[in-house]
Amino acid sequence: MKKISLLSLLLILFVSCVSPKSIISESITEDPTKYMNTITADELKTHLYIVASDSMEGRETGSAGQKKAGVYLINQYKKNNVPFPKGAENYYQPIPAAFLNAKRNENLGDSENIWAYIEGSEKPNEILVISAHYDHVGIKNGEVYNGADDDGSGTVALLEIAQAFEIAKKEGHGPKRSILFLHVTGEEHGLHGSRFYSENPLFPIANTITDINIDMIGRRDEAHASSNNYVYIIGSDRLSTDLDNICKVANAKYVKLDFDYKYNNPMDPNHFYERSDHYNFAKNGVPAVFFFNGVHADYHKAGDEPDKIEYDALTKRAKLAFVIAWELANRENKPVVDKK
Ligand SMILES: [Zn+2]
Repeated sequence: MKKISLLSLLLILFVSCVSPKSIISESITEDPTKYMNTITADELKTHLYIVASDSMEGRETGSAGQKKAGVYLINQYKKNNVPFPKGAENYYQPIPAAFLNAKRNENLGDSENIWAYIEGSEKPNEILVISAHYDHVGIKNGEVYNGADDDGSGTVALLEIAQAFEIAKKEGHGPKRSILFLHVTGEEHGLHGSRFYSENPLFPIANTITDINIDMIGRRDEAHASSNNYVYIIGSDRLSTDLDNICKVANAKYVKLDFDYKYNNPMDPNHFYERSDHYNFAKNGVPAVFFFNGVHADYHKAGDEPDKIEYDALTKRAKLAFVIAWELANRENKPVVDKK
Protein backbone atom coordinates (compact mmCIF):
# COMPACT_ATOMS: atom_id res chain seq x y z
CA MET A 1 0.00 0.00 0.00
CA LYS A 2 1.15 3.46 -0.82
CA LYS A 3 2.60 5.46 2.00
CA ILE A 4 0.88 8.67 2.92
CA SER A 5 2.58 11.80 4.22
CA LEU A 6 1.48 13.43 7.45
CA LEU A 7 0.52 16.59 5.58
CA SER A 8 -1.78 14.78 3.15
CA LEU A 9 -3.24 12.79 6.03
CA LEU A 10 -4.09 16.00 7.86
CA LEU A 11 -5.50 17.46 4.68
CA ILE A 12 -7.72 14.42 4.13
CA LEU A 13 -8.91 14.56 7.74
CA PHE A 14 -9.64 18.28 7.41
CA VAL A 15 -11.59 17.85 4.20
CA SER A 16 -13.55 14.88 5.48
CA CYS A 17 -14.53 16.75 8.64
CA VAL A 18 -15.48 20.05 7.08
CA SER A 19 -16.76 19.73 3.57
CA PRO A 20 -19.59 17.17 3.89
CA LYS A 21 -21.30 19.37 6.45
CA SER A 22 -21.35 22.40 4.19
CA ILE A 23 -22.62 20.32 1.28
CA ILE A 24 -25.37 18.76 3.39
CA SER A 25 -26.62 22.07 4.76
CA GLU A 26 -27.14 23.31 1.22
CA SER A 27 -28.73 20.23 -0.24
CA ILE A 28 -31.22 18.96 2.35
CA THR A 29 -33.53 20.41 4.96
CA GLU A 30 -31.48 21.87 7.75
CA ASP A 31 -30.94 19.74 10.85
CA PRO A 32 -33.70 20.60 13.37
CA THR A 33 -32.03 18.89 16.36
CA LYS A 34 -31.09 22.10 18.15
CA TYR A 35 -34.65 23.42 17.99
CA MET A 36 -36.21 20.02 18.66
CA ASN A 37 -34.28 19.95 21.93
CA THR A 38 -35.96 23.16 23.12
CA ILE A 39 -39.01 20.93 23.66
CA THR A 40 -38.49 19.78 27.22
CA ALA A 41 -40.32 17.59 29.71
CA ASP A 42 -40.04 20.35 32.32
CA GLU A 43 -41.83 22.93 30.19
CA LEU A 44 -44.49 20.48 29.02
CA LYS A 45 -45.11 19.53 32.64
CA THR A 46 -45.34 23.14 33.80
CA HIS A 47 -47.93 23.93 31.11
CA LEU A 48 -49.90 20.74 31.65
CA TYR A 49 -50.24 21.17 35.42
CA ILE A 50 -51.93 24.50 34.64
CA VAL A 51 -54.02 23.52 31.60
CA ALA A 52 -55.25 20.37 33.38
CA SER A 53 -55.72 21.94 36.82
CA ASP A 54 -59.05 22.05 38.66
CA SER A 55 -59.22 25.80 38.07
CA MET A 56 -59.93 25.09 34.36
CA GLU A 57 -63.00 23.10 35.45
CA GLY A 58 -62.49 20.32 32.92
CA ARG A 59 -62.55 22.72 29.92
CA GLU A 60 -66.10 21.92 28.84
CA THR A 61 -66.87 23.51 25.47
CA GLY A 62 -68.18 27.03 25.99
CA SER A 63 -67.57 27.05 29.76
CA ALA A 64 -65.76 29.68 31.81
CA GLY A 65 -63.07 27.10 32.59
CA GLN A 66 -62.38 26.46 28.93
CA LYS A 67 -62.15 30.19 28.25
CA LYS A 68 -59.68 30.52 31.10
CA ALA A 69 -57.55 27.75 29.59
CA GLY A 70 -57.76 29.59 26.27
CA VAL A 71 -56.44 32.79 27.85
CA TYR A 72 -53.52 30.81 29.26
CA LEU A 73 -52.66 29.48 25.78
CA ILE A 74 -52.87 32.93 24.23
CA ASN A 75 -50.64 34.38 26.93
CA GLN A 76 -48.01 31.76 26.13
CA TYR A 77 -48.07 32.69 22.44
CA LYS A 78 -47.75 36.37 23.33
CA LYS A 79 -44.87 35.62 25.66
CA ASN A 80 -43.08 33.70 22.89
CA ASN A 81 -43.82 36.37 20.25
CA VAL A 82 -45.92 34.01 18.14
CA PRO A 83 -48.62 36.22 16.58
CA PHE A 84 -52.21 35.46 15.65
CA PRO A 85 -52.64 34.63 11.95
CA LYS A 86 -52.51 37.11 9.16
CA GLY A 87 -56.07 38.04 8.20
CA ALA A 88 -57.46 37.34 11.70
CA GLU A 89 -58.42 40.02 14.21
CA ASN A 90 -57.01 38.24 17.23
CA TYR A 91 -56.15 34.77 18.57
CA TYR A 92 -59.80 33.60 18.47
CA GLN A 93 -61.97 32.02 15.81
CA PRO A 94 -65.41 32.47 17.42
CA ILE A 95 -67.92 29.65 16.98
CA PRO A 96 -71.55 30.41 17.74
CA ALA A 97 -73.50 28.12 20.04
CA ALA A 98 -75.98 27.54 17.21
CA PHE A 99 -73.27 25.77 15.22
CA LEU A 100 -72.13 23.70 18.21
CA ASN A 101 -75.68 22.61 19.04
CA ALA A 102 -76.98 22.06 15.51
CA LYS A 103 -76.34 18.30 15.51
CA ARG A 104 -77.08 17.17 19.07
CA ASN A 105 -78.61 20.20 20.85
CA GLU A 106 -76.48 19.84 23.97
CA ASN A 107 -77.01 23.41 25.10
CA LEU A 108 -73.36 24.37 24.70
CA GLY A 109 -72.39 28.04 24.95
CA ASP A 110 -70.50 30.07 22.38
CA SER A 111 -66.95 28.85 22.10
CA GLU A 112 -63.74 29.57 20.23
CA ASN A 113 -60.97 27.89 18.33
CA ILE A 114 -57.62 29.46 19.22
CA TRP A 115 -54.97 30.01 16.62
CA ALA A 116 -51.41 31.23 16.32
CA TYR A 117 -49.22 31.51 13.28
CA ILE A 118 -45.71 31.65 11.95
CA GLU A 119 -45.48 32.98 8.41
CA GLY A 120 -43.36 31.10 5.91
CA SER A 121 -40.32 32.83 4.45
CA GLU A 122 -40.50 31.37 0.92
CA LYS A 123 -43.96 29.86 0.39
CA PRO A 124 -46.13 31.83 2.80
CA ASN A 125 -49.35 30.86 1.00
CA GLU A 126 -48.81 27.15 1.61
CA ILE A 127 -50.14 26.30 5.07
CA LEU A 128 -49.24 23.48 7.42
CA VAL A 129 -51.80 23.01 10.20
CA ILE A 130 -50.86 21.49 13.55
CA SER A 131 -53.99 20.79 15.58
CA ALA A 132 -55.03 19.62 19.03
CA HIS A 133 -58.33 20.03 20.85
CA TYR A 134 -58.27 21.98 24.10
CA ASP A 135 -61.81 21.18 25.25
CA HIS A 136 -62.65 18.27 27.53
CA VAL A 137 -65.80 17.04 29.29
CA GLY A 138 -66.07 19.43 32.26
CA ILE A 139 -67.42 18.58 35.72
CA LYS A 140 -69.61 15.55 36.43
CA ASN A 141 -71.20 14.82 39.82
CA GLY A 142 -68.95 17.41 41.42
CA GLU A 143 -65.76 15.84 40.04
CA VAL A 144 -63.50 17.79 37.70
CA TYR A 145 -62.45 15.80 34.65
CA ASN A 146 -59.08 17.38 34.01
CA GLY A 147 -58.32 15.63 30.73
CA ALA A 148 -54.55 15.77 31.20
CA ASP A 149 -53.95 13.22 28.48
CA ASP A 150 -57.16 14.01 26.54
CA ASP A 151 -56.11 16.39 25.21
CA GLY A 152 -54.06 18.47 27.61
CA SER A 153 -51.08 16.54 26.28
CA GLY A 154 -51.61 17.63 22.66
CA THR A 155 -52.49 21.16 23.78
CA VAL A 156 -49.19 21.72 25.57
CA ALA A 157 -47.26 19.95 22.80
CA LEU A 158 -48.52 22.64 20.40
CA LEU A 159 -47.21 25.38 22.69
CA GLU A 160 -43.76 23.82 22.76
CA ILE A 161 -43.68 23.11 19.02
CA ALA A 162 -44.62 26.72 18.27
CA GLN A 163 -41.94 27.96 20.63
CA ALA A 164 -39.32 25.77 18.91
CA PHE A 165 -40.26 27.18 15.48
CA GLU A 166 -40.18 30.72 16.83
CA ILE A 167 -36.71 30.25 18.32
CA ALA A 168 -35.53 28.88 14.97
CA LYS A 169 -37.05 31.85 13.18
CA LYS A 170 -35.32 34.31 15.47
CA GLU A 171 -32.02 32.69 14.55
CA GLY A 172 -32.74 33.01 10.83
CA HIS A 173 -34.13 29.50 10.33
CA GLY A 174 -37.85 30.18 10.13
CA PRO A 175 -40.08 27.76 8.21
CA LYS A 176 -40.37 28.23 4.44
CA ARG A 177 -44.09 27.46 4.50
CA SER A 178 -46.53 29.02 6.97
CA ILE A 179 -47.66 27.12 10.05
CA LEU A 180 -51.07 27.48 11.71
CA PHE A 181 -51.23 26.26 15.31
CA LEU A 182 -54.88 25.38 15.76
CA HIS A 183 -56.37 24.63 19.20
CA VAL A 184 -59.85 23.42 18.35
CA THR A 185 -62.91 23.37 20.59
CA GLY A 186 -65.93 21.05 20.72
CA GLU A 187 -64.00 17.88 19.90
CA GLU A 188 -65.60 15.82 22.65
CA HIS A 189 -69.06 16.72 21.34
CA GLY A 190 -68.38 15.66 17.76
CA LEU A 191 -65.27 17.32 16.30
CA HIS A 192 -67.18 20.62 16.04
CA GLY A 193 -64.25 23.06 16.18
CA SER A 194 -62.29 21.40 13.39
CA ARG A 195 -65.47 21.03 11.33
CA PHE A 196 -66.15 24.74 11.80
CA TYR A 197 -62.60 25.55 10.70
CA SER A 198 -62.86 23.29 7.64
CA GLU A 199 -66.10 25.04 6.65
CA ASN A 200 -64.74 28.51 7.49
CA PRO A 201 -61.02 28.23 6.83
CA LEU A 202 -58.83 31.27 7.33
CA PHE A 203 -56.52 30.00 4.58
CA PRO A 204 -57.91 28.11 1.58
CA ILE A 205 -58.19 24.36 2.15
CA ALA A 206 -56.64 23.90 -1.31
CA ASN A 207 -53.45 25.59 0.01
CA THR A 208 -53.38 23.52 3.19
CA ILE A 209 -50.63 20.99 2.64
CA THR A 210 -51.15 18.73 5.69
CA ASP A 211 -52.76 18.55 9.11
CA ILE A 212 -50.69 17.04 11.90
CA ASN A 213 -53.19 16.25 14.66
CA ILE A 214 -52.16 15.39 18.20
CA ASP A 215 -54.75 13.88 20.54
CA MET A 216 -53.53 11.97 23.64
CA ILE A 217 -49.78 11.47 23.61
CA GLY A 218 -48.89 11.44 27.33
CA ARG A 219 -49.65 7.88 28.45
CA ARG A 220 -49.42 4.26 27.34
CA ASP A 221 -52.07 1.61 26.73
CA GLU A 222 -52.19 -2.00 27.87
CA ALA A 223 -50.80 -3.30 24.59
CA HIS A 224 -47.56 -1.39 25.35
CA ALA A 225 -47.31 -2.13 29.07
CA SER A 226 -43.61 -2.96 28.76
CA SER A 227 -42.48 0.27 27.03
CA ASN A 228 -43.76 3.76 26.34
CA ASN A 229 -41.41 4.21 23.38
CA TYR A 230 -44.17 4.01 20.77
CA VAL A 231 -46.97 5.97 19.21
CA TYR A 232 -49.97 4.99 17.15
CA ILE A 233 -49.75 6.61 13.74
CA ILE A 234 -53.08 6.90 11.98
CA GLY A 235 -53.97 8.21 8.54
CA SER A 236 -50.51 9.10 7.24
CA ASP A 237 -50.79 6.84 4.17
CA ARG A 238 -54.50 7.25 3.48
CA LEU A 239 -54.13 10.15 1.03
CA SER A 240 -50.42 10.57 0.48
CA THR A 241 -47.57 8.09 0.21
CA ASP A 242 -45.22 11.05 0.61
CA LEU A 243 -46.64 12.01 3.99
CA ASP A 244 -46.22 8.49 5.32
CA ASN A 245 -42.61 8.37 4.08
CA ILE A 246 -41.84 11.78 5.61
CA CYS A 247 -43.15 10.58 8.98
CA LYS A 248 -41.07 7.39 8.83
CA VAL A 249 -37.84 9.10 7.78
CA ALA A 250 -38.10 11.92 10.33
CA ASN A 251 -38.85 9.42 13.08
CA ALA A 252 -35.97 7.12 12.14
CA LYS A 253 -33.55 10.02 11.97
CA TYR A 254 -34.42 12.04 15.05
CA VAL A 255 -36.76 10.34 17.52
CA LYS A 256 -36.82 6.55 17.00
CA LEU A 257 -40.22 5.74 18.42
CA ASP A 258 -41.89 2.48 17.40
CA PHE A 259 -44.68 3.33 15.00
CA ASP A 260 -47.76 1.20 15.67
CA TYR A 261 -50.03 1.12 12.61
CA LYS A 262 -52.67 -1.10 14.21
CA TYR A 263 -55.38 1.58 14.28
CA ASN A 264 -54.56 2.74 10.77
CA ASN A 265 -56.23 -0.38 9.43
CA PRO A 266 -59.52 0.76 7.83
CA MET A 267 -61.09 -2.47 9.14
CA ASP A 268 -60.19 -1.73 12.77
CA PRO A 269 -63.48 -1.60 14.67
CA ASN A 270 -62.42 1.45 16.73
CA HIS A 271 -62.32 3.68 13.65
CA PHE A 272 -59.99 6.18 15.32
CA TYR A 273 -59.26 7.64 11.88
CA GLU A 274 -62.75 9.14 11.90
CA ARG A 275 -62.66 10.10 15.58
CA SER A 276 -60.36 13.07 15.94
CA ASP A 277 -59.95 16.47 14.34
CA HIS A 278 -57.64 15.56 11.46
CA TYR A 279 -60.64 13.83 9.88
CA ASN A 280 -62.23 17.18 9.03
CA PHE A 281 -59.13 17.94 6.96
CA ALA A 282 -58.76 14.47 5.47
CA LYS A 283 -62.37 14.31 4.32
CA ASN A 284 -61.66 17.50 2.36
CA GLY A 285 -58.63 15.98 0.67
CA VAL A 286 -55.91 17.38 2.95
CA PRO A 287 -53.29 14.75 3.86
CA ALA A 288 -53.46 14.21 7.61
CA VAL A 289 -51.63 12.28 10.28
CA PHE A 290 -52.92 11.61 13.76
CA PHE A 291 -50.65 10.74 16.72
CA PHE A 292 -52.26 8.90 19.62
CA ASN A 293 -51.20 6.76 22.58
CA GLY A 294 -54.31 4.55 22.65
CA VAL A 295 -56.87 4.35 25.43
CA HIS A 296 -56.17 3.54 29.08
CA ALA A 297 -58.08 3.00 32.34
CA ASP A 298 -58.52 6.76 32.89
CA TYR A 299 -59.80 7.54 29.39
CA HIS A 300 -62.77 9.91 29.86
CA LYS A 301 -62.58 9.38 33.63
CA ALA A 302 -61.87 11.78 36.48
CA GLY A 303 -58.50 10.03 36.92
CA ASP A 304 -56.99 11.51 33.73
CA GLU A 305 -54.68 13.66 35.84
CA PRO A 306 -51.31 15.32 35.12
CA ASP A 307 -49.48 13.22 37.72
CA LYS A 308 -50.21 10.11 35.64
CA ILE A 309 -48.62 11.52 32.50
CA GLU A 310 -45.34 9.95 31.40
CA TYR A 311 -43.42 13.09 30.58
CA ASP A 312 -40.57 11.29 28.82
CA ALA A 313 -43.05 9.79 26.35
CA LEU A 314 -44.94 13.07 25.96
CA THR A 315 -41.67 14.85 25.17
CA LYS A 316 -40.56 12.31 22.55
CA ARG A 317 -43.93 12.36 20.81
CA ALA A 318 -44.02 16.17 20.80
CA LYS A 319 -40.51 16.15 19.31
CA LEU A 320 -41.70 13.71 16.67
CA ALA A 321 -44.53 16.02 15.63
CA PHE A 322 -42.04 18.89 15.53
CA VAL A 323 -39.50 17.20 13.24
CA ILE A 324 -42.25 16.04 10.87
CA ALA A 325 -43.61 19.60 10.82
CA TRP A 326 -40.09 20.89 10.17
CA GLU A 327 -39.68 18.61 7.18
CA LEU A 328 -43.13 19.47 5.79
CA ALA A 329 -42.60 23.20 6.22
CA ASN A 330 -39.12 23.27 4.68
CA ARG A 331 -38.87 20.59 2.03
CA GLU A 332 -38.87 21.42 -1.66
CA ASN A 333 -42.23 19.84 -2.52
CA LYS A 334 -45.40 19.54 -0.51
CA PRO A 335 -46.69 15.96 -0.06
CA VAL A 336 -48.43 14.74 -3.19
CA VAL A 337 -51.98 13.46 -2.83
CA ASP A 338 -51.83 10.16 -4.73
CA LYS A 339 -54.76 8.29 -3.20
CA LYS A 340 -58.46 8.84 -2.96
ZN1 LIG B 1 -59.34 13.75 22.58
